[in-house]
Amino acid sequence: MRPVQVKAVYFDGQSARAHDVVLSLAGASLEVSGDSISRRDALSNLRVSELMGEAPRLIKFPDGAHCEVRDHAGLSELLAEGGHRDGLVVQLQNRWRWALAAVVIAVAAVAAGYRWGLPAVSEWIAFKLPGKALAQMGESTLSYLDQAVFSPSKLSDNRQQALQKAFVQLAVPDEIDAAHVIVFRDSPVIGANAMALPDGTIVVTDQLVSLAKHDEEILGVLAHELGHLKRRHSLRMLIQGSIVGAVLAWYVGDVSSVAAGLPTLMLQMRYSRDHEREADVYAARMLKENGISPARLADMLARLEQAHTSQTAQQKKGAEEPGFSDYFASHPDTHERIQALERN
Ligand SMILES: [Zn+2]
Repeated sequence: MRPVQVKAVYFDGQSARAHDVVLSLAGASLEVSGDSISRRDALSNLRVSELMGEAPRLIKFPDGAHCEVRDHAGLSELLAEGGHRDGLVVQLQNRWRWALAAVVIAVAAVAAGYRWGLPAVSEWIAFKLPGKALAQMGESTLSYLDQAVFSPSKLSDNRQQALQKAFVQLAVPDEIDAAHVIVFRDSPVIGANAMALPDGTIVVTDQLVSLAKHDEEILGVLAHELGHLKRRHSLRMLIQGSIVGAVLAWYVGDVSSVAAGLPTLMLQMRYSRDHEREADVYAARMLKENGISPARLADMLARLEQAHTSQTAQQKKGAEEPGFSDYFASHPDTHERIQALERN
């Protein structure tokens, strides 16, 4: 049987010069000869590109040289005769297919974990954490915020106590235990806002108190924050953020940054649409049970949005807007939330 000979163009990997050569088999080796080129390499040391349409197939040599082969039929025959090469290519293709499938599955699993698993795990942890841990988280977060964005409230003690008392007197719609304490802080930076810390501390800014036209609007906001507390929303978000942070830190190899980042996370945190809706539903129930119209909260939301829209416009060129948790401006859902509350 005549040995298979395949025409090819050879490049030595150093110059751009093309050499016309002939490929043939010598046992388990490939022989390249012609035009001042003569080499012999074990087939197992060569890498042969896949067959892709009319494009020439490439044979790569370990030293950087390569051959371009246009005679596809001839090369297939030569490879087949050499034993396993073509099979190997097919195997490689299959392996690639599997690798690709594995990547797709892995990405899907991570995405599903992020979308569903992470919130579920965070919720589970949030309801398992001991009170002591919550107290510590709350304390360190508040002391961080006190340094970063808050100063002591300018409201009189009487005013503060009157608001605290009015809220404490309200009946609470369910029996889930959520100890809470209301504190006031002045914060021109953050403006009118309120937030529920993981330990049950609800912080209300002086700016929110003065923005309200009626105390029932403030009570509405407090009821909304209590709703967040009951469902442990801020805690869940913090845990979720910490898990993501920890995974990222583990990935880049800096774990200590996660613990340090916890209080800042509170500033960057935004509740999800669902969390806001849940807190609104809770607030509406609580207000109604106490003979207060949920529209009070809706009015306050509208006022808050307006206040923050103009504040953001003023700040456009200033420092970066702190991504404070709750009622912040440019919240696309605010209108929808107002409507839902008014329907109540
Ligand atoms: Zn909220």
